[in-house]
Amino acid sequence: MTQNLSDTASKASPAPLTLLGLGAMGTALAGAWLAAGHPLTVWNRTAARAEPLAARGAVVAATAAEAVAANRLVVVCLLDDDSVEEALAGADLTGRDVVNLITSTPGTARARAAWATGRGARYLDGGIMAVPPMIGVPQAGPYVFYSGSQELFEEHRAALAAPADARYVGADAGLAALYDVALLSAMYGMLGGVAHAFALVRGESVDPRALAPLLSSWLSAMTGSVAATAEQLVAGDYTGGVVSNLAMQVAGVPTFLRTAEEQGVSPELLTPYFELMQRRLAADPARHGVEDLTGVIDFLRP
Ligand code: NDP
Repeated sequence: MTQNLSDTASKASPAPLTLLGLGAMGTALAGAWLAAGHPLTVWNRTAARAEPLAARGAVVAATAAEAVAANRLVVVCLLDDDSVEEALAGADLTGRDVVNLITSTPGTARARAAWATGRGARYLDGGIMAVPPMIGVPQAGPYVFYSGSQELFEEHRAALAAPADARYVGADAGLAALYDVALLSAMYGMLGGVAHAFALVRGESVDPRALAPLLSSWLSAMTGSVAATAEQLVAGDYTGGVVSNLAMQVAGVPTFLRTAEEQGVSPELLTPYFELMQRRLAADPARHGVEDLTGVIDFLRP
């Protein structure tokens, strides 16, 4: 009985790991692992950044190679792929489980996966969907996309999920980066629209603080169209469940451009999207006029 209890306790005890990189994100991750009781070895190029973590119980390695040697699970949160190359140049990766959390392209992630497996490691790539203050705060909704070795993911799932929810998206190491960049690209498109809206009211008797909640709730209300777009793409038919058709929306384009002109606002953030809408309609007004906006995707990637 005592034996069983102690077995259970040891199985449940937080696994040790190594973290390379103590920038804003790495420091947040380190704090979450320490708070969850994981024995943690850290390394950072600028050693002073490790001091507060050492005071909280982290072991500080003098070199990246030494940090890699300390634990099977090695998480990398450096600036970019070049810094990963540089930091790990002299490290022996044989038998290590490398989890690379830098933001990269799918192609870079795949190349890094081949590089790591060629050096005897298992490899998992990650795309962090959070900013540092969200790390270790489940109610803030942080998560990380993971792709690559599923074995590695399952084995270390508990440790990986301590700072942020862990979502495995496939064996192709490039997938986490693809999801990550897809979501962030959509965010930048949305932020471009927000910038244009604030520019329109600038200098008028509109307090930007009054516009802000209206913008937030309007954008939230409009996100229902995202699921409809996905359904139309899968169906290969862009006319299903259309609420505001392309012909009507293209007819409204001059209003947006003239308003920008009246307000002295450059339309440069809006015009690329409007041009795609107009091209789609012009290609076959009778057929495409009754569609949703989904047809613009055909121009971006036929
Ligand atoms: P920071 O700029 O705060 O930190 C960069 C880290 O990389 C530091 O530890 C720095 O070391 C190290 N570094 C840079 N160049 C080298 C090099 N040539 N050799 C060794 N170490 C190097 O970045 P973050 O911590 O914010 O970001 C880390 C990763 O997390 C990035 O890929 C980022 O895209 C991703 N990420 C960040 C988010 C954020 O909001 N911060 C959100 C989602 C993902 P030193 O201290 O010595 O300069």
